Amino acid sequence: MIVINNDKLIRFKDLILKSNNILLATHVNADGDAIGTSLAMALFLKKLGKQANLIVPNDFPAFLQWIPGQEMITVFRKHEAQVKKLVEKADLLICLDFNDPERLAAARETVFSGQMPVVLIDHHPNPKPFSQIEFSETRYGSASELLYNILIGMGFENMIDKEIAEAIFTGIMTDTGNFSFACSYPEVWITISRLLEKGVDKNEIFSKVYDNFSADRMRLMGFCLNEKMKIYPEYNTAIISLTKDEMKKFNHKPGDTEGFVNMPFSIKGIKFTALFLEKSDHIKISFRSRGTFSVNDFSMKNFKGGGHVNAAGGEWDKPMDKVIERFEALLPEYKNELS
Ligand code: 5GP
Ligand code: MN
Repeated sequence: MIVINNDKLIRFKDLILKSNNILLATHVNADGDAIGTSLAMALFLKKLGKQANLIVPNDFPAFLQWIPGQEMITVFRKHEAQVKKLVEKADLLICLDFNDPERLAAARETVFSGQMPVVLIDHHPNPKPFSQIEFSETRYGSASELLYNILIGMGFENMIDKEIAEAIFTGIMTDTGNFSFACSYPEVWITISRLLEKGVDKNEIFSKVYDNFSADRMRLMGFCLNEKMKIYPEYNTAIISLTKDEMKKFNHKPGDTEGFVNMPFSIKGIKFTALFLEKSDHIKISFRSRGTFSVNDFSMKNFKGGGHVNAAGGEWDKPMDKVIERFEALLPEYKNELS
C-alpha cells in the first residue's frame, strides 16, 4: 500500500481552501500525463469554486485537446502577456508532472516571478528544491495517479466526477504506454477500477487518444521504420532520427512523433532506444529502455536531460549527424549493461 504523508495532505488542503486564484503549470512539450493531471486538478479546483488557470509552455498535441477543461489553458509561447497577468494575480502555484523549473523552458522566468507559495505534484526522481509542499512520489507510474491519491487523501473522493476521472485516466493510460509499463503494482488497477466506476469509458478514451492521427503521420511512421531506423545488434539498441525537412515533408504536427521511440522494442532483444528530432536550435532526444538500464542516468550524464529509469529525454546542440556520432561513441561504455 502506497501511503502519502498525512501532514503534507493537511497543509495542501488548507492552502487550497484559503487560495482563490490558483495557477497550474506543466512541462514543455506536454504529454498525456502532463495535460491529464493538470486539467484534473484545474477541474477539481473550479468545482471547489476557485479560479484555476493552467500554463503550458508551448503547443501540445491535438489528441489531448478533447480533455475537459481546455478553456482554462493558456499557451505561454502564444500569450506571454496574458500569462504575466495570471501570475500577478495568483495566490498559489501548483507544478505538475515535472520537478525542475528548467522544464518550463521559456515560460520559466514568468511563471516563477510571483511571490505565491509553490506546491509540487510529480513522479520523477531527484526534485529540485523549489516548492513549499513537495509531493514527489516516484513509485507512481504517472503524476495523474499520484494526484488521484492526493485528492482521495485530502478527503475529496466525492468531488471526483466523470470529467476529472477522464483526465486522470488519460494520464495513467498514456504514461504507462496504454498499460504496458510502469503499472505492475496492484494499487494502480484499484485506482483504474474506481475511475471506471466514476463513468470513464475506456474504449472511447483509447480511441480519442490513439485513433486520432492523420494519414501523413502514418506515412511518417512508415518512413521512420523503413528508412530512418538504425539498429546496433551488439548493444541491443535501436535509434530513429528525423530532420526538420523530413518532418515538414510529412506535414508534421505536434504529437505526430509521440510513441515512435517505442516502436523498435517490437524487435526481439532490443533493450535501449532513442529518437532524435531536429528542433530549430537543438536536437531533442527521447530515450527508452526495457529492464534495468537507466536511461535517466544515461541522459543526465550525457545529454543534459533526465526522466525515469525507463523513459527519459535530453537535448544536444546541432547538427544531427554529430549528435548521433556522439551517441554511437558512448555505446561501448555501456556494453556490459546492454548485452
Ligand atoms: P519524452 O521522451 O517523452 O519527451 O520524455 C520522457 C520522460 O523524460 C518524461 O518523463 C519527461 O518529463 C522526461 N524528459 C524529457 N526531456 C527531458 C529533459 O530535457 N530534461 C529532463 N530533466 N527530463 C526530460
Ligand atoms: Mn508523467
